[in-house]
Amino acid sequence: MEKYDLLIVGSGLFGATCAYEAVSLGKRVLVLEKRDHIGGNIYTEKVEGIDVHRYGAHIFHTTDKKIWEFINKFSEFNSFVNSPIANYKGEIYNLPFNMNTFSKMFGVATPDEAKAVLEKQRAEISGEPQNLEEQAISLVGRDVYTKLIKGYTEKQWNRDCKDLPAFIIKRLPVRFTYDNNYFNDRFQGIPTLGYTAIIERMLKGAEVRTGVNFLDDKEAYLSLAKQCIYTGPIDEYFGYEFGKLEYRSLRFKTEILQEENHQGVAVVNYTEREIPYTRVIEHKHFNYVETPKTVITKEYPTDWREGLEPYYPVNNEKNNELYKVYAECARKEKVLFGGRLAQYKYFDMDDTVAAAFELMAGLYNT
Ligand code: FAD
Ligand code: UDP
Repeated sequence: MEKYDLLIVGSGLFGATCAYEAVSLGKRVLVLEKRDHIGGNIYTEKVEGIDVHRYGAHIFHTTDKKIWEFINKFSEFNSFVNSPIANYKGEIYNLPFNMNTFSKMFGVATPDEAKAVLEKQRAEISGEPQNLEEQAISLVGRDVYTKLIKGYTEKQWNRDCKDLPAFIIKRLPVRFTYDNNYFNDRFQGIPTLGYTAIIERMLKGAEVRTGVNFLDDKEAYLSLAKQCIYTGPIDEYFGYEFGKLEYRSLRFKTEILQEENHQGVAVVNYTEREIPYTRVIEHKHFNYVETPKTVITKEYPTDWREGLEPYYPVNNEKNNELYKVYAECARKEKVLFGGRLAQYKYFDMDDTVAAAFELMAGLYNT
């Protein structure tokens, strides 16, 4: 008889949501995590009294009330609204692309004036945009593309904008109002207790082993439980049998500064190609902490290779085709695959929770 009903590989948001749902149904759950801490990429830790997002800024946002209510069970959320600033060679612009951006870029004051400028610039693209460059120009024109998109995107993805899928840029709102809210979603905030506390609470009732790589002894771990959910990279599970999927990785450089307020906002995007990092995060602004010091993190995009953390799937045609091959293999396994790495999808946190709900509903017929 197996000791556990469910083995979950990975203690990120996907694994923790599944663990919570399974424990709620009275299942015996074992979670294996290869890092020395729980939480995956949403992990936060206190530094100088400030919650530091170790793997990049995480702002929870969703339109789905059910998901918002679910996540609020584990921590209160504050009323943080993400309003990042773009710095292009010292020129400051508001994001996402809105009347504040257009006013500064074109010297216009009204939506009609902004639309008239964009109309002219968009005219260079006819028909359905075929790549990120065409999509960006057709949304916001060449000036905004050149100053705020091209450099940032090419360093983030290490590819020419012509070789990237259009959907990446469609994530960002374009508005003809003076509204700097980066997201269109109805619900948004930062957990007052930090994300790690959320994961801890979700995992209550499950047995958790950190510092354990499931793939080091796959068969032995699988024999411990009736079912298994795997949330690591799908290609790694299959020993890269059909080749490697491409991911983007990141290097984070965190510094404690003897300053009260370094940049006046949580996120500044550096949109020129020449500066090697994409964003600087000043963590205290997420939680409105008042301290004499501050903690900042610079985010440097890098190519992924074995041994580095894979952060972003590169969902171009080639990789999506290869993913389909692995997904077909996955269907034949007893194991279930879920999350940003196992489904090879650019999931935000709310998408991750939704995907975990879906998988659990299928597994236990709830
Ligand atoms: P992960 O967090 O990657 O968890 C997978 C876990 O599995 C990891 O802990 C890993 O160590 C473990 N694991 C893998 N292989 C094994 C193995 N063999 N054995 C044991 N353990 C294993 N979303 C938002 O909604 N808002 C944001 O502002 C936002 N910002 C982001 C910024 C960055 C820089 C990044 C990279 C992502 C951001 N996201 C954001 C997305 C968010 O991080 C994901 O939606 C979420 O973390 C996905 O959870 P997951 O459990 O699928 O994956
Ligand atoms: N982007 C950009 N300039 C910016 C911010 C974003 O060109 O100042 C583009 C870039 O291609 C990025 C995409 O928009 O990959 C999505 O941005 P988002 O902030 O949603 O990225 P994430 O937080 O997922 O890294």
